[in-house]
Amino acid sequence: MTQPRLQQTVTGEVSFEGVGIHTGKPATLTVRPAAPGAGIVFVRSDSPNESRIPARLEHVAGTELGTTLTADGVEVLTVEHILAALYACEIDNARIELHGREVPILDGSFEPYARALDEVGRERQTERVEVVEVAEAFTEKGSRGSSYTALPAETFLVSATIEFGHPAIGRQHGGFAIEDGGFRQNIASARTFGFRNDVDALRERGFARGASLENSVVLGTEEVVGGNLRHRDEFLRHKVGDLVGDLSLIGARLRGHIVAERPSHAGNIALARAIRERHDRRRRDRRLDIAEILDALPHRYPLLLVDRIVDFEPSRRIVGLKNVTINEPFFRGHFPGHPIMPGVLVVEAMGQVGGLLLMDAVENPKDKVVYFMALRSVKWRRPVIPGDQILFEVEMVSFRRGVCKMRGRGTVEGRVVAEAEMMARVVDR
Ligand SMILES: [Zn+2]
Repeated sequence: MTQPRLQQTVTGEVSFEGVGIHTGKPATLTVRPAAPGAGIVFVRSDSPNESRIPARLEHVAGTELGTTLTADGVEVLTVEHILAALYACEIDNARIELHGREVPILDGSFEPYARALDEVGRERQTERVEVVEVAEAFTEKGSRGSSYTALPAETFLVSATIEFGHPAIGRQHGGFAIEDGGFRQNIASARTFGFRNDVDALRERGFARGASLENSVVLGTEEVVGGNLRHRDEFLRHKVGDLVGDLSLIGARLRGHIVAERPSHAGNIALARAIRERHDRRRRDRRLDIAEILDALPHRYPLLLVDRIVDFEPSRRIVGLKNVTINEPFFRGHFPGHPIMPGVLVVEAMGQVGGLLLMDAVENPKDKVVYFMALRSVKWRRPVIPGDQILFEVEMVSFRRGVCKMRGRGTVEGRVVAEAEMMARVVDR
């Protein structure tokens, strides 16, 4: 089992200035650090409320010739290149202040963003990234001939085919690894492109007003106008980059092999939604599975101290509930007339919740049992009394050579009652 890495943000801030490819208007974009769990959030610093627009699928408002996000009545146009660069540079949390309506197009590729983000550097944060996996193969059909097949894979791979009835493009096909520098090496420098014959009609409709030979590969009737291509299949590579930017709106690290036929922004977003939905559904189903594992816990009354699992992210985090009633056997002797749940049993309950997280991470959990080896930094903050509902949240810190470190916290109505660091080992029963 591999642990998802820790979340990362930028170590400093970095600014960009340039025109938007569609609006033709100048804009300034500044990337700043953000807290763990914040995700990528655009902030329209020129809007009266400094509106926040999270870079997530729920905020997609348009997919024609670029991906547009909206929230709070304001928009951000053409988000895909900066988002792809952030994904490729493994920046999970950032505040992106945009003074203007559209992200600057710069040279039309992902490279200026990716290079600057690498230069400013990134730092590890305290929480782990969410990983969204393609667990089983499925196909998603988009409009106008685009279609996608998503397959399980150990890492994030994209194979794509594009087809344009233009002699300089034709049919192009290739497979690319996105992680571990793959995007930086093979995709980042590929520029966006457009057809000279379409320009007037597009400008009429409010598109491509900032497009020029400085920020696009321009195709004439037969040929590439002015300058050379950066790759023979630069068009294909750029489309792969756009796909990565669009899929980053899932808001997690992706594990899967995407096979895309004639990808489009609309199709990319539909695929991203399908991946997210399937993942979330599986997570809900897993929560039911864990109910079965709960049965498999060796503990029985009166020492089974978990009632229900309410949230569960495999190998990452688990949340369990314990309803403390006056009928608990320990209240009879602890203390007569003044019932308080023994502190060590609060920690025991937390350990049982953590044990489930651990059991799920091993094979054949029904043949295993969890032994606790160490408790550290145990703190009891307030007493637990009959009628309390304790919510235990346990996070996996590391899991190496069969030994797991976890951090747990119990709360009653949002107030911490106990916390501890726990070390445990899984052994055969
Ligand atoms: Zn693009």
